[in-house]
Amino acid sequence: MICNNIGINEKGRLTFAGQDTVELAAQYSTPLYLIDENKVREKMRIYVNALKENFPEGSMPLYSSKALCFKKIYGIAADENMGVDVVSPGELYTALEAGFPMDMVYFQGNNKTDADIEFAIESKIGYFICDNLDELDAIDEIAAKHGIVQKILLRLTPGIDPHTHAKISTGKVDSKFGIAIETGQAEEAIKIALTKKNVELCGYHCHIGSQTFDCKPFTDGAEIMLKFIAHIKEVCGYEAKILNLGGGMGVKYVESDPDIDYSANIKAIADVIKKQCKDFGINMPIVLMEPGRSIVADAGMTLYTIGSTKEIPGYKNYVSIDGGMTDNPRYTLYESAYTIALANKAAETPVKEYTVGGRCCESGDLIQEHVMLPQAKKGDILAVMTTGAYNYSMASHYNRLPKPPVVMLKDGESYVAVRRETFADLVRNDL
Ligand SMILES: *Cc1c(COP(=O)(O)O)cnc(C)c1O
Repeated sequence: MICNNIGINEKGRLTFAGQDTVELAAQYSTPLYLIDENKVREKMRIYVNALKENFPEGSMPLYSSKALCFKKIYGIAADENMGVDVVSPGELYTALEAGFPMDMVYFQGNNKTDADIEFAIESKIGYFICDNLDELDAIDEIAAKHGIVQKILLRLTPGIDPHTHAKISTGKVDSKFGIAIETGQAEEAIKIALTKKNVELCGYHCHIGSQTFDCKPFTDGAEIMLKFIAHIKEVCGYEAKILNLGGGMGVKYVESDPDIDYSANIKAIADVIKKQCKDFGINMPIVLMEPGRSIVADAGMTLYTIGSTKEIPGYKNYVSIDGGMTDNPRYTLYESAYTIALANKAAETPVKEYTVGGRCCESGDLIQEHVMLPQAKKGDILAVMTTGAYNYSMASHYNRLPKPPVVMLKDGESYVAVRRETFADLVRNDL
């Protein structure tokens, strides 16, 4: 199995976090998001411990909330001593509602509105990750109005393409995010930031991309950032205290993806950073990372019920499920690979190639193609693995489909973290 929280029980059914998925589907109905709470905590601890062991005091991971956002997740992150990053006032509001400590919240995003900035400052947020000069001016002005000095990091683009999917790589110079080092604009921005009376520049942020399997993009990114810290120290006398290396460590979605040792990767990154700090003559900065996918992806599984099946001789075999791009748009967006099984026939040999279609009125509404499954029929429970990241958080109401619930699994028990939406929820704001 692609993750150690997946198995097959004596009834030949798929298990997740040790629980029978067919029974869970019957208890909670489908479509259904499952989240293995112990797996989330295990991943958080790996990051918390690895950053603590390898970097100066204060170094920690920030859970990137956009991967999976609801109140309970913030409670778990707080328990595990993680910070969080938020990219919208809605995520910030959710963190506030969950009682998450605001001094450990970092606000990302390339177009925070003045209202967003005001809301975050009123909420006493820890840090802004300031994306551009317009935002810098706005933070300074709004912080002045509130009589505070707001801590910020500046988001810089080190000019790296991590060779992942173009839509999920963000560290290149021509990205919509951040300020380029290569063009001299980053240096200019720092000089301006240092003159702002209501802003305290605490360091820099970069985010290279997503779903990267080795530490090379991180060490390459770190090298450019450290060199830049040294350069700015020389020309401005300012030495950044915090270096945030962003998120992006990969996750195993299918057998052909490599296994990843997150602690070993972080240690390897630390070894390179230690050496470079020495070479460049700077102090080792506090290091932050922003894992999202690698915290929650393999803690998730989605269950669906197969409705119609359709075999077109000489062409394709379709199974249609009771969800689709509304609860998992990632195949439609990126052709993302997933491992799929029939939960009630998990011990049977796959015999046929299927295309898994959703129920939306859209021919691109597919969850996966070329999936080998046992003979499928109406009523079978279809499980899509590794759906903890960017599924629930990307869900939509297209075709007015209510969003599925999120059910947490922990130590043999299950509980609802997000209720299933009703039709009444769908028309709640309609006048
Ligand atoms: C998306 C994003 C992350 C999280 O990336 P993962 O690939 O989910 O780890 C972290 N930081 C920033 C700025 C992001 O945009």
